[in-house]
Amino acid sequence: MIYYNLKDKKEQVNFKTATIKGQGNEKGLFFPENIPQFEKDFIENLNQFSDEEIAFICMKDFVGDEIPESLLKEIVAETINFEIPLKKINDRISVLELFHGPTLAFKDIGARFMSQCLSYFLKDEDKKVTVLVATSGDTGGAVAHGFYKTRGVNVVILYPKNRVSPVQEKQLTALGENISAIEVNGTFDDCQNMVKQAFSDEEINSNLFLTSANSINVARWLPQQIYYLLALKQWQKFNHENPVICVPSGNFGNICAGILAHFRGLPVEHFIAACNENDVVPNYLKIQKLEYKDTVATLSNAMDVGNPSNFTRILELFHNQFNDLKNTISGYSINDDETLKTISKVYKNYGYTLEPHSAVAFASLEKYLEENPDKKGFILGTAHPVKFPDAVEKATNIKIEVPESLAELMKKEKKTVEINADFEELKRILLDKN
Ligand SMILES: *Cc1c(COP(=O)(O)O)cnc(C)c1O
Repeated sequence: MIYYNLKDKKEQVNFKTATIKGQGNEKGLFFPENIPQFEKDFIENLNQFSDEEIAFICMKDFVGDEIPESLLKEIVAETINFEIPLKKINDRISVLELFHGPTLAFKDIGARFMSQCLSYFLKDEDKKVTVLVATSGDTGGAVAHGFYKTRGVNVVILYPKNRVSPVQEKQLTALGENISAIEVNGTFDDCQNMVKQAFSDEEINSNLFLTSANSINVARWLPQQIYYLLALKQWQKFNHENPVICVPSGNFGNICAGILAHFRGLPVEHFIAACNENDVVPNYLKIQKLEYKDTVATLSNAMDVGNPSNFTRILELFHNQFNDLKNTISGYSINDDETLKTISKVYKNYGYTLEPHSAVAFASLEKYLEENPDKKGFILGTAHPVKFPDAVEKATNIKIEVPESLAELMKKEKKTVEINADFEELKRILLDKN
């Protein structure tokens, strides 16, 4: 598959280069040259395929012969080797639980796929790669875990000080070895801007070989399609109508992967972009204009994004046709107060524990279903409640137990370097590392 740069269509690369480089010239995102279609027979009979077969069919056209077929089969099987159940919350709303992976976040799926592809592509090269990543909470943990002790790879993670939860912070800062964490006195957008600036800095790039593991990397973005297929496989057992799929959205990589799968033939009734008070996209859907704003800190901090990078990919999928886009996607913005009320209500009425991101999704889907009484759907459950204990405990009065898989990690010591939201400080650290 050829990928072109959305900012410079003349820059065309293969999957390997797109994975290693992360982003193209002028910080442009890579986008597949064509949208491979699923065969009708496949999409109508998902239940006749194993999850691993579905994952392989989903990914093979995007990788082509750049990874041997037998290895790609192993990589996708490893990527999804935990349960991804679709559970009913009430008669009209189900949840796809994407948080049973090693760091209890949906980002494990993209991070694991990417780290395995990258280590395959680098194995014959004599380079040491630095994965530089900005995180609002969950990306860092998933990336750190995915690349932990991977030979030839150093990981440097930037995160906004005091804006990630204790479990998240441990996942970022306590692993050690080839993983280093930098806490920034600023917001996620500050972190992301510094990372983007590092990628275009000549001095850094002549000394270090940098790559990104944010959802802008195609090897993290594309495998997220897999669980939309796995969801449909489960959905079709109990439902004849197509689902409305509601995705808690921040950088818009997750929902963009779902929409891509839909363009390939996956039957979906409608998509909902569920946002917190950072409402650039819901606002765009109203006024047809992208008005970037400063990030607002919310309870659903992984979605505190003022300038969602992947939205340009969504615009590309729709060839910038606003009306088509609006017919496929609706957007809602849910504030913290509604988020807490939703967690509380869903726990009381249905005995299901949501965390803030999935609560934003639940509230959004509920609003949409009120306006569309003959429809049903599911939300993507993007994180385990234990990653956001304060909000969950406040809303439900129950104490969230730390799962056994995390107990060891919680005992380890946090190791970080603290800097201001100043690119020069980051640059010094990166150059010193070399
Ligand atoms: C990253 C994240 C999101 C947002 O996903 P995007 O792909 O950036 O839109 C939502 N929920 C949780 C828990 C996350 O970690």
